[in-house]
Amino acid sequence: MALNLKDYVASYPNFPEPGVTFRDISPLLEDGEAYRQATDEIVNYAKGKNVDMIVGPEARGFIVGCPVAYELGIGFAPARKKGKLPGKTVKATYGLEYGQSSLYLHEDAIKPGQRVLVTDDLLATGGTIEATIELVKDLGGIVVGTAFIVELMDLKGRDKIKDYDILSLIKYN
Ligand code: IMP
Repeated sequence: MALNLKDYVASYPNFPEPGVTFRDISPLLEDGEAYRQATDEIVNYAKGKNVDMIVGPEARGFIVGCPVAYELGIGFAPARKKGKLPGKTVKATYGLEYGQSSLYLHEDAIKPGQRVLVTDDLLATGGTIEATIELVKDLGGIVVGTAFIVELMDLKGRDKIKDYDILSLIKYN
């Protein structure tokens, strides 16, 4: 029988700051059956979209995207923070609560016309995933879907990426 994946998310009130509840997927990752179920659900989603390539932002986007890429026999490209990628890169900047951050992708990571699934552990305000999508589009990739283990509905990230299809396995208000 299918597991209720919400049972495998830990909630930490007042982390990283007062008033914020941090949703942590560590218990899900630490349980082989739950991690496999979450991965299988994303694999099935990707199969319906003829995905050529997966891109995920540092660092938990890798944990979600890599097993899906392995299962489908396709590639994974990491969108990384400043100073991590050795080759020529494209860059996308996005807003954080205080200040800005940037993500980078090797400029030969995606070939024009490739169908790309973007993955991350969690959708909050949508800034991180919007920047990742921008990198893929810069290189001529077609974002055919986005997949998350957790979505924080209150933060309305899906409004920011409303032009894209979204799979989220666990939702919080
Ligand atoms: P966004 O850019 O506001 O959508 O935030 C999403 C990014 O921040 C993801 O890469 C998450 O890993 C991280 N993040 C934001 N809130 C949480 C949380 O409550 N738990 C775990 N990660 C979070």
